[in-house]
Amino acid sequence: MGYGGPHAAFLATSQEYKRMMPGRIIGISVDSSGKQALRMAMQTREQHIRRDKATSNICTAQALLANMAAMYAVYHGPAGLKSIAQRVHGLAGIFSLGLNKLGVAEVQELPFFDTVKIKCSDAHAIADAASKSEINLRVVDSTTITASFDETTTLDDVDKLFKVFASGKPVPFTAESLAPEVQNSIPSSLTRESPYLTHPIFNMYHTEHELLRYIHKLQSKDLSLCHSMIPLGSCTMKLNATTEMMPVTWPSFTDIHPFAPVEQAQGYQEMFENLGDLLCTITGFDSFSLQPNAGAAGEYAGLMVIRAYHMSRGDHHRNVCIIPVSAHGTNPASAAMCGMKIITVGTDAKGNINIEEVRKAAEANKDNLAALMVTYPSTHGVYEEGIDEICNIIHENGGQVYMDGANMNAQVGLTSPGFIGADVCHLNLHKTFCIPHGGGGPGMGPIGVKNHLAPFLPSHPVIPTGGIPQPEKTAPLGAISAAPWGSALILPISYTYIAMMGSGGLTDASKIAILNANYMAKCLEKHYPVLFRGVNGTVAHEFIIDLRGFKNTAGIEPEDVAKRLMDYGFHGPTMSWPVPGTLMIEPTESESKAELDRFCDALISIREEIAQIEKGNADVQNNVLKGAPHPPSLLMADTWKKPYSREYAAFPAPWLRSSKFWPTTGRVDNVYGDRKLVCTLLPEEEQVAAAVSA
Ligand SMILES: *Cc1c(COP(=O)(O)O)cnc(C)c1O
Repeated sequence: MGYGGPHAAFLATSQEYKRMMPGRIIGISVDSSGKQALRMAMQTREQHIRRDKATSNICTAQALLANMAAMYAVYHGPAGLKSIAQRVHGLAGIFSLGLNKLGVAEVQELPFFDTVKIKCSDAHAIADAASKSEINLRVVDSTTITASFDETTTLDDVDKLFKVFASGKPVPFTAESLAPEVQNSIPSSLTRESPYLTHPIFNMYHTEHELLRYIHKLQSKDLSLCHSMIPLGSCTMKLNATTEMMPVTWPSFTDIHPFAPVEQAQGYQEMFENLGDLLCTITGFDSFSLQPNAGAAGEYAGLMVIRAYHMSRGDHHRNVCIIPVSAHGTNPASAAMCGMKIITVGTDAKGNINIEEVRKAAEANKDNLAALMVTYPSTHGVYEEGIDEICNIIHENGGQVYMDGANMNAQVGLTSPGFIGADVCHLNLHKTFCIPHGGGGPGMGPIGVKNHLAPFLPSHPVIPTGGIPQPEKTAPLGAISAAPWGSALILPISYTYIAMMGSGGLTDASKIAILNANYMAKCLEKHYPVLFRGVNGTVAHEFIIDLRGFKNTAGIEPEDVAKRLMDYGFHGPTMSWPVPGTLMIEPTESESKAELDRFCDALISIREEIAQIEKGNADVQNNVLKGAPHPPSLLMADTWKKPYSREYAAFPAPWLRSSKFWPTTGRVDNVYGDRKLVCTLLPEEEQVAAAVSA
């Protein structure tokens, strides 16, 4: 429950619409030796390529939780899930039968599964009495109440409920004694006859040991921060400390229902208030909404706040949003979702936003200008010198400044969006503030605003007091998330981080993150061109190395370098964003000098491998970069026809001798995966047949 989140939701479609689904589908492709390999299908078609035409603005989603739900089905299997459901239905049936026998309340004659609706004289009194036995009933109105049962409910709980409803009179039966009389009451027209969860995976792992090994087998294929630094630019892959993570598992945080009365969630309420205050101090804003569930959800919420503000002033026509080409794809996708008209502005040779272009666009649209979306430090990894001027231009022409806060790790304690001149910004708590990325989510994207926008922050129809959802009348912007405080359960991670670091620690973290990036840029500049730098020749907390030249000299593209890094035991940096043909590297403050050196050494060694191609010592098509990654199945096959040695393919650096993270597939065929969209995992034997027939 987690007081409302995080939680996963799934979306299914017929074949007809499959290519319009957001790029979050794991599809099946083949690797370099024709083996089945999984990859995210159609991923490049989403925000970064399609921008304002993307099907959704969702980037960070709820991948980790989708896996939890999947593992629940894997463990219980079709038979297990059905027996859980039958037991839950049975408990609801016992409850319904018992109440009828007691004759104290009227059970509504509705087909039910797990929830029974009851008419009684005083719903609030009953709910209060039940809550003393730690059972939550939902009050619908003063004479209607619902009771829901799940697999954690026991016969004992049902007995307690009978006592509550009998209000002091003796109950002449027990839940157990009623069980034999209870019948399945699900209408036959609603009963499923067809088989489900027929894939072997849902039918193999039904003991804890088996499940443990299955999960561990999957986990061991994933390279994580447990193995090495993950230098993904713009993602801020910093340490997720154990102390920060612990509260997520505490029942006092996990077991709170989103409708829980605030009196029963005082700890949560105190944390929201303190965290909101701390985030205001950090960002230089006046008010925070903790509702958005990720950065892109924050963008949407923030733009809706700006829209509501313009409307409150009678400026219904203000719908133009200026966005630089270098912006993250979620920016135009979010603006499009808000119904805004997007005007793109370019950047100059140094990577800075072209201020004259901004001025022209703002002035030409001054009657309809709604907002500018801008990232600072820029997505090019430099502190944009003209940022205050840019904010001024927008304000002078009637617009509001939305700052994308993904790069906050380069600002905390040193400057702030509020100070710079932004009106609203989101924070990616899963980047700057230590919530782990969970393979793509959950995240949190709270937004901060200046005073003039505070009245327009998201509201929520669930007033979490009496447990009764009621519409709130005042705020013009309604809910932008299902729960009033978004993914409340993961907020203790960021709260703990900020509390433990203190203002001195947070400022040091920013300084060290910037220092680390500059150290790496310096180490690498002799080997790769560093694309953009600020006026002092320095970068911010991340930087871009330019690989475009190698396409001509050696036929090498960023993907080849990223895949070869896997042989060195590293995750590739962010590829071809925001500039095609480049790699963006962000070390964060969490990495030691030794780890930074190790990563630089890998890239320098790869540069030498490229040089061998440039010099003609290695073949342009058939070389150690194009062949990467090298999984054991390839290296240990009986035949080896590559022009380089197996040993060099697998052990190009000394540290790999003592500990090597083995890739599990060869190079995955991207085009094949997108053309042949297959999302159903085939059993091993069928995989091979499918690969052959394709
Ligand atoms: C990560 C990121 C986003 C999107 O945030 P999500 O939490 O993934 O939705 C937006 N802008 C920039 C610059 C980012 O790095």
